[in-house]
Amino acid sequence: MAVMEQTASVVDTLHIWNGLQDAEQAKAWVEAHLESSRREIAALLAVAAARTVENTLAAYDRACWHLRMAGSQGGVMFMVHPVAAVRDAVQALQQVVSAEGTALSLNREVYRALSALDVRGEDAATQYYLERTLLGYRLSGVDKDDATRERIRALADRSTELSMRFSRTVQDDVRTVEVADANELAGLPEDYLARHGVKDRSGKLVADAPVVLTTDPPEMSPVMSYAASPRLRRSMYLAYNGRGYPANKQVLLDLLAVREEMAGLLGFRSWADLATVDQMMGSAANMREFLNEVEAAARATAAREFAELEAFVRERESLNPEAAGANPEAAGANPEAAGAALPLTLSDARYWEEQFRRARYDFDSQSVRPYFPYAQVEAGILATAGRLFQVRFVPVPDAPVWAEGVKAFDVVDAGSSQGTGTNAGLSASPLRAFGRDDNSVVGRDDKPEVVGRIYLDMHPREGKSKWFSECSLVGGVLGRQMPEASLVCNFPEPKKDSEHPENDDAGLMQYSDVVTYFHEFGHLMHEVLGGRQRWAGQSGIATEGDFVEVPSQMLEEFFEDYELVAGFARHYETGEPLPRETFARMVKASAHGRALSTLTQVMYATYSLETHDRPAGELDLDRLLREGYDRFSRYSFVEGNRMYAAFTHLVGYTSNYYTYLYDKVMALEFFAEFAGEASEMLGGETAMRYRRAVLEPGGSKPARELVQAFLGREVSMDALQRWIGKEFSA
Ligand SMILES: [Zn+2]
Repeated sequence: MAVMEQTASVVDTLHIWNGLQDAEQAKAWVEAHLESSRREIAALLAVAAARTVENTLAAYDRACWHLRMAGSQGGVMFMVHPVAAVRDAVQALQQVVSAEGTALSLNREVYRALSALDVRGEDAATQYYLERTLLGYRLSGVDKDDATRERIRALADRSTELSMRFSRTVQDDVRTVEVADANELAGLPEDYLARHGVKDRSGKLVADAPVVLTTDPPEMSPVMSYAASPRLRRSMYLAYNGRGYPANKQVLLDLLAVREEMAGLLGFRSWADLATVDQMMGSAANMREFLNEVEAAARATAAREFAELEAFVRERESLNPEAAGANPEAAGANPEAAGAALPLTLSDARYWEEQFRRARYDFDSQSVRPYFPYAQVEAGILATAGRLFQVRFVPVPDAPVWAEGVKAFDVVDAGSSQGTGTNAGLSASPLRAFGRDDNSVVGRDDKPEVVGRIYLDMHPREGKSKWFSECSLVGGVLGRQMPEASLVCNFPEPKKDSEHPENDDAGLMQYSDVVTYFHEFGHLMHEVLGGRQRWAGQSGIATEGDFVEVPSQMLEEFFEDYELVAGFARHYETGEPLPRETFARMVKASAHGRALSTLTQVMYATYSLETHDRPAGELDLDRLLREGYDRFSRYSFVEGNRMYAAFTHLVGYTSNYYTYLYDKVMALEFFAEFAGEASEMLGGETAMRYRRAVLEPGGSKPARELVQAFLGREVSMDALQRWIGKEFSA
């Protein structure tokens, strides 16, 4: 698969980042893969003999593999490469790669060649691959006349350009909030204050210089959760939700118009219908029905949650008007300001939910941060994933990486399903792979098999994307190419200061960060364990788009298991494990607000659906946003909120934001299969059954079959409803 003509400037055909220092090298690497892709297609078209899977589908699959290499590694370098000129170069190349992909998806000769294949005697995966590929071709308009196809090609290029511009604008638009009076930072954690040069002098906060906060998540997020000042929260909320505005408003409208025209040319009523026809969902109408079902499942509990919250704020306010956010000085001049805490607005939501959790469950999410120093969490997650999926992660210190601090690990299979049976000893004692003897030697009869390589790029860096994501780097092919993938995250970075040990920073994580880590790791394992298919096009996370969040969301649920978390959650100073009782309160507290946040997700999903289902020319993005908040959110809208201008999911997911909810429903149903196994939850029979039924097939079967194989039944709303109401149960 990696057979590619070596050009002078390409040293490592599998890894663009190996030795990469300038734009020219990046260009040469990407172009070499594009060239290989073109060569495969030329060979496919030149076949004069009868068409066979080998001379046609195999060549097509290799061509796609090269295209994906060019696209995915270029895309990742845009997110992570430390050299700005390289980032600019790969960004420009993204357009070229995308155009090339579009050209292939509109290539009638290739479509004809594939259509001529007779796969009746082939395995089910091959039949499914061809069926999906041909459907993809028809969705690209390959069977349309020349003029239509030319128009579709132009629209696709335009769509790529607009999407890139939208994302780039958001990524580059870091806004700042100036804090005039350091006392406005009251409520924020000590290490946050220290990082900004703020000191506590007998109850008064003082700073040597004016404090300027940015909208980067590590700076923004604590303000929204902990800052007692409603004014500061509001400024931060508006700054964060103003990113990309005004430029992106028109970019988004243009993009929606392009998509609408494209859907029309392909015979669909709307983009939302087009974008769901090859998904589990099937249509925009099904999506609306699904969102209604979720809304119905959450509404009553949401009303109950919000009523409790309002009562709590009212009580707080009457006890201590200043702490509740009212401004007594302004009260005389402006009576409305006196009751500033009510009604609750969207910029108050996270703060008050946090206050409520602290009071109701006596749980302060800050209090558990000392148990989650970054390094311990990383080791714990590797150990947990190792036990669950029966693999080991072996550091590869000399593997080429793109920036200092990025770590590489080989994934070694300890529970191979490839039929050798030689790993039985290890499978029977999953604890061996857990933390303490991570590098234990596999017995001499065993043949440990490296099944993939992962990279962890986990901390913020200048010029790096602000997101938390999992990225495929090399697509796997059974027996030919091992999959490689990376996490690109922005967790706090541990720092040692040998001269001033008092300045050491353990990189303490919020527990929600830890959950995010579990989530992204779920994608990573799907990529690697699903990475052994006959066809590259079915490898890893190649299922229907609206199934891809199931394995990641399911892994999040494991965070509610005490034994598992206590395995790595130890105090960074004392080494004491996270107390069981604190953990129990944390789990209860985290259940609070689920109904409200589920409705928020329904709101985003509805926004994503409606922007892609209504005529683009009639869209009023602001009014639609307002309507969404009014219908689904119990919090008051904050005037000036333009979150759509930074809603990058509209670029990537288009109309299909619903997938988060859809997949949550399935993830919870899946996780329920593990319940009852208690401490056997990891390394137990269910885990291996899950790995085989859901992860290992990658995209070689319809997702419905994976669900059916693991659950043995259809999906219901039962697990979701139990999950939403957990705070009120028992
Ligand atoms: Zn995800």
